[in-house]
Parts: sequence; C-alpha cells; structure tokens
Amino acid sequence: MSKFNLNEYETVKQRKERFYNDHADGRIVVELCNTLNPLDYALFVAKVYLNKGDQEKGLCKATGYALEVRDTELKTTKDKYTGELKEYESVNYSSWTENCEESAVGRALDNAGYSGNKKPSRDEMEKAQRMNTTMRAKNTTPKPVSKLSGACPIHPNETLREYISNKTGNPFFAHINNGKYCFGKN
Ligand SMILES: [Zn+2]
Repeated sequence: MSKFNLNEYETVKQRKERFYNDHADGRIVVELCNTLNPLDYALFVAKVYLNKGDQEKGLCKATGYALEVRDTELKTTKDKYTGELKEYESVNYSSWTENCEESAVGRALDNAGYSGNKKPSRDEMEKAQRMNTTMRAKNTTPKPVSKLSGACPIHPNETLREYISNKTGNPFFAHINNGKYCFGKN
C-alpha cells in the first residue's frame, strides 16, 4: 500500500482552484448531514453550482457525499528500527469533520467533471493510505495502562487513564487533548 506517490495526485484544494478558474461565479456549498451526533462521525454533502442563477434555481451541477468516523483511540505503529510500539494520532482523531468536509467537496467536483487526470484526489488516496500504513509517530508518548480514574473535570467526555512516564517511570493520570496531555486541572 506504500507503492503510490501522493505527489502524483491532485489535492482537493487544487481541484477547487481549477473549478474557480473556470467558473468565477461558481459556488460550492457544503452541509453537515448528521447534526445530532457530530462527535461520533461526520457525513457531509457538497453541492457544486456553476453560477448564481443555477444556485437560485437549485440546479446544482453535481453533488458529493463523504463519511468519516471519528477515531476515539490513539493508533499504534511499530517502530521500524526498534520494533517498539508507539502511539500516534490519526487524522480522524482530531479532524474528522474538516477531513470529511474536504472529501465531500473533492467528490462533488469529481462528479462535476473535475477529476482531471482521472485519478482519485490526493485526499482520497491519503484516506486509503491511512487505513493501513503509518502516520506521524509520537515518540515521547508514554504507554497507557488500563487503570482509569473517571472523567476529566474539564472535558467530561474524556476519561483520565493511567500513563507511565518514559522519563521517570512514575505513573500519572491524563488524557490526550489536541496532541497534549490534559491532567484534568488548569
Ligand atoms: Zn481534560
């Protein structure tokens, strides 16, 4: 799965630029479909209109849907050299919504004829890639052990769990928040 080169694929951003070059009055309208449980997953629909008149008439050129499920757990990857298991945050750990929105736009533009080189967008290839290969590893993340100590007072949806510090070997309770430890206190 690591055989393809991401640089050969067009990004959604590049696809959007091509679209707006061709249709200066074009509009891309994106909507979150699952408003009841957006913290579990994101389902977006994107609609492409070629101009204001089409938008007013509700005549979209194409639509595109995308679904991304939130990763609630850190992923692990084996270090190439040491064989040690390391934790990392997948794209969908923190940015499932943004990632999904961009995918929907990429698919809508594809359906509107902006597939260009007849390849999937780079974003779609990245999605495929992250299904079974490694992302940036967090070398300094201590190993969590299973002992839990209840919800974080600041982030009630998060559970503080016991980690062992790589440096000191001492246990501490925390959860990961935006790539950093939250210890449940300010
Ligand atoms: Zn917290």
